[in-house]
Amino acid sequence: MRVTIVGGGICGLVLALMLERRGIECQVYEAVPAVAPLGVGISLLPHGTLELTELGLMSAIQEAGVEFKDSCFFNSFGQLIYQDDADTRWPQFLMHRADLHRILLDAVVGRLGTERVSFGHRCVGVRQDARHAVATFENGLEAAGDVLVGCDGINSAVRAELYPAEGAPVFSGINMWRGVTPHETILSGGAHLRAGTLDTGKIVVYPIRNLSAGRQLLNWVVELRDPEAVPAGWNNPGRLEDFAALFAAWRFDWLDVPEMFERSELILSYPMSDRDPVPRWSFGRITLAGDAAHAMVPRGSNGGMQAILDARSLADALAVEREPVDALRRYEDERIEPANAVVLRNRSAPPDRLIQLVVDRTGNRPFDRLEDVISVDELREVLDSYKRVSGYNEGRLSVGQPRTG
Ligand SMILES: Cc1cc2nc3c(=O)[nH]c(=O)nc-3n(C[C@H](O)[C@H](O)[C@H](O)COP(=O)(O)OP(=O)(O)OC[C@H]3O[C@@H](n4cnc5c(N)ncnc54)[C@H](O)[C@@H]3O)c2cc1C
Repeated sequence: MRVTIVGGGICGLVLALMLERRGIECQVYEAVPAVAPLGVGISLLPHGTLELTELGLMSAIQEAGVEFKDSCFFNSFGQLIYQDDADTRWPQFLMHRADLHRILLDAVVGRLGTERVSFGHRCVGVRQDARHAVATFENGLEAAGDVLVGCDGINSAVRAELYPAEGAPVFSGINMWRGVTPHETILSGGAHLRAGTLDTGKIVVYPIRNLSAGRQLLNWVVELRDPEAVPAGWNNPGRLEDFAALFAAWRFDWLDVPEMFERSELILSYPMSDRDPVPRWSFGRITLAGDAAHAMVPRGSNGGMQAILDARSLADALAVEREPVDALRRYEDERIEPANAVVLRNRSAPPDRLIQLVVDRTGNRPFDRLEDVISVDELREVLDSYKRVSGYNEGRLSVGQPRTG
C-alpha cells in the first residue's frame, strides 16, 4: 500500500505519522516551496491531543505551548459569565501554529525521512484507474499511488476535481483580525477567553507561548460582521483602524484591550468562511480529509482537531482493509457524519452562544446578579452539547489513555 498525501498542513502531516505507525508507506506533496510560519494561535482540545499523545508528540507540545487551564466567557463590560475549568485528566494546550507545524514536520522528517515530504508540488489535477490514483502537479510531475488523499485545505484542488461545480468557500459575513502581543500573564495564565458578541464586537484571547517569567505571548482575534470578505489567505495583513474604535472602552481590570491591540507585533486579517457539507468524500481510490473535506468556521477551536480525527480514522481503515477502495469507504462511513455535524454546529450554535444568550436577556447591559439572568445549568449545557457534537466528550476520550503525570 502506498498513499499519496496532497497537502502538508496539520492533516497531511498527522496522517503521515499515523501511517508510519501502521507500517504504511506514504509521500506528502506540499504546494509551498519551503516552510514558513502560517497564522498565529491554535487551541488543541483533548480529542486532538489524545491522538498527538499517542503519536509521542506531547513532550514537544508541552515545551512549546501553554497548558490550557480554563475557558472563560465575558460580556463586553468585562463581566465573567462562565468559567469552564480544564478536565485535568486530558491534556489541552494553547500554542503558536508555527510551533505545532514545526513539531509535526520535524517528526515526519525524523521518522519517515526528509525525502518523504516534497515541497514545491502544487497539485492541479487527479485521476484514477482500476489500479492507481495519480496526482498531477503544476511543475509537470506526476505521482501514482494506491490511494490519494486530498489534505489540501479549504481551497482544495482535489476537492475541486471531485466537485467541479462547487466554487468558492461560503463567506459567513464575519471577518477576523488576529495578532500577537507580548504581555504580562492574565487571568489564570492558561485561559482561553471570549468576550462580547458579533453585534457588540467580539474578541478571543489566549496565551500561545511562555516568555520570561510572568510574561506570555497573547494571541488575540477580533470578529466583526462585515458584508464584504477580506482577501483569503493565512498571512494577509490587517489594519488597527479597521476595528480598534469599537473596543476603545474595553479597559477591564483583567485586560486593557486597546493597549493589547496597540502593542501587537503583527495584525493579520481573514474572512471567516466554511464549505457546505458534501455527501461523499471517497471516490474509488481518492478521498478528502481535514479542511478539504469539511472546512468549518473557526468558532469552536475544532477544524484542526477534526482533521486529526480524520487522520486517525483513515490510517486505521487503511491498516485493516485489504482493498484501498474499501478502506476509503470505511473511513468515510466513520467520519463524514460527525464532521459534517460540527460544520453545521459551528454555524448555528458555537460555544460562544452562551454570551449571546446573556446579552439578549440583559438587552446588552451590565448585570447585577448573573443568576437572575441565566442558570449555571443552562450555561453548562450550551458547552456540553457542543462538546458532544465535536467528539470532545467522556465517551470518546475514555477509549484513549487517561493522562498521567
Ligand atoms: C483563524 C483560524 C483559527 C483557527 N483556530 C483553530 C483552533 O484553535 N483549533 C483548531 O483545531 N482549528 C482551528 N482552526 C482550523 C484549522 O486551522 C484548520 O482546520 C486546519 O488547519 C486544517 O488543516 P488541514 O491540514 O486540513 O488544512 P491546512 O492547514 O489549510 O493545510 C493545507 C495544506 O495544503 C497545502 N496545499 C494547498 N493547496 C495545495 C495543492 N493544490 N497542492 C499541494 N498542497 C496544497 C497548503 O499549502 C497547506 O500546507 C482555525 C482556522 C482559522 C482560519
